[in-house]
Amino acid sequence: MNDNESPADRAFRAEVRGWLEANLSGAFAHARGLGGPGREHEAFEERLAWERHMAAAGWTCVGWPEEHGGRGATVRQQVIFNEEYALAGAPARVGHIGENLLGPTLIAFGTEEQKARFLPPIVAVEELWCQGYSEPNAGSDLANVQTRAALDGDHWTIDGQKVWTSNALEADWCFVVCRTEPGSSRHHGLSYLLVPMKQDGVDIRPIVQLTGTSEFNEVFFDGARTGARDIVGAPGEGWKIAMATLGFERGVATLGQQVGFRREFEGVLDLARRTGAVDDPLLRDRLTRAYTGLEIMRLNAVRTMAGVASGAPGPESSISKLVWGTWHRELGELAMDVLGAAGMVADGEPYDLNDWQRLFLFSRSDTIYAGSNEIQRNIIAERVLGLPREARG
Ligand SMILES: Cc1cc2nc3c(=O)[nH]c(=O)nc-3n(C[C@H](O)[C@H](O)[C@H](O)COP(=O)(O)OP(=O)(O)OC[C@H]3O[C@@H](n4cnc5c(N)ncnc54)[C@H](O)[C@@H]3O)c2cc1C
Repeated sequence: MNDNESPADRAFRAEVRGWLEANLSGAFAHARGLGGPGREHEAFEERLAWERHMAAAGWTCVGWPEEHGGRGATVRQQVIFNEEYALAGAPARVGHIGENLLGPTLIAFGTEEQKARFLPPIVAVEELWCQGYSEPNAGSDLANVQTRAALDGDHWTIDGQKVWTSNALEADWCFVVCRTEPGSSRHHGLSYLLVPMKQDGVDIRPIVQLTGTSEFNEVFFDGARTGARDIVGAPGEGWKIAMATLGFERGVATLGQQVGFRREFEGVLDLARRTGAVDDPLLRDRLTRAYTGLEIMRLNAVRTMAGVASGAPGPESSISKLVWGTWHRELGELAMDVLGAAGMVADGEPYDLNDWQRLFLFSRSDTIYAGSNEIQRNIIAERVLGLPREARG
């Protein structure tokens, strides 16, 4: 995304590129390409060490204000950072949920005490976070959350179940949306608690995904505890805080992924050339459409950036999420069709997938997490186009 890059942004890009080039060498040379969708557990300790190395040099949380340990990078610079990170083939991040979701939420809504307690370990990658929103009966319909928490003197006691909790096994803390007002319903009476994961009242059970790995988990809270002060916003304000976090999740956090997408597209194109699939007029047409889609995403990202920069990410981030999620899922399908019958056979025992099979299987989830396509369409219909709200049962 080099359109109209200012001299300051060009200098920032050169600085990021130079640092990555110099540091993804020596002890970290082999870290390039580690982790990522379908390979979530790969070399976790090495990736953690790499990210702490980045932190020591001030390259984590670059978009956070300097007073909270960031670099105060502009939205465009954050995109540049993520682009260069992907271009360098640097390892998949381990602290992204704290950096991109909880951190910005605390900066906006946390108390000074909470900022002082929780932000520095996110910057230093000393504490990892996970997101406790979804439940068996509360996914798209998040307002149906049933996990309960009760204030008991100096602590909250939490009971209930979360599901699809990414990285729960590695996480030290979880931000949990739960019901703190007995008898309340929908988005009333919810609160946003910060809950330590390493305690007796928390039971984490990994779920095996299509890719064979377990990036997400079931999380059971059975008398789990957290401090009375570990609540973001006031009791009952959980919905407002949870929605703000989702805005961060759909917005700037994903803007830099274009570079990775382009590289995957080029890989599929190369594969099509090698297998001869590029001569098939139907596949050729789909490859062309995928290329056009990449350009549309790039322009959408520019538009979203303008919205984020003006402080109002809002519904634009739903357009962006809908476009990239769908494009990426279709790229996975295209990769399989380019591979043909070979795509149906694992490379080795018992379930050794190649990159294209992993892309295909993992990208099924791109149109589900952070709000499914249907939910994004509802948001766009109601909040962008001003269409009537959908009927609620
Ligand atoms: C890889 C991955 C990682 C995830 N990580 C996390 C995490 O870390 N933390 C967390 O809390 N959650 C996480 N999730 C859960 C994710 O947020 C939910 O899966 C998602 O919100 C959908 O909820 P659901 O699975 O309950 O499906 P449902 O809500 O039951 O939806 C089922 C289907 O019905 C459609 N549908 C539902 N409501 C409507 C409607 N009103 N109008 C039209 N269609 C509708 C949906 O689009 C979907 O196709 C993750 C999911 C995935 C796939």
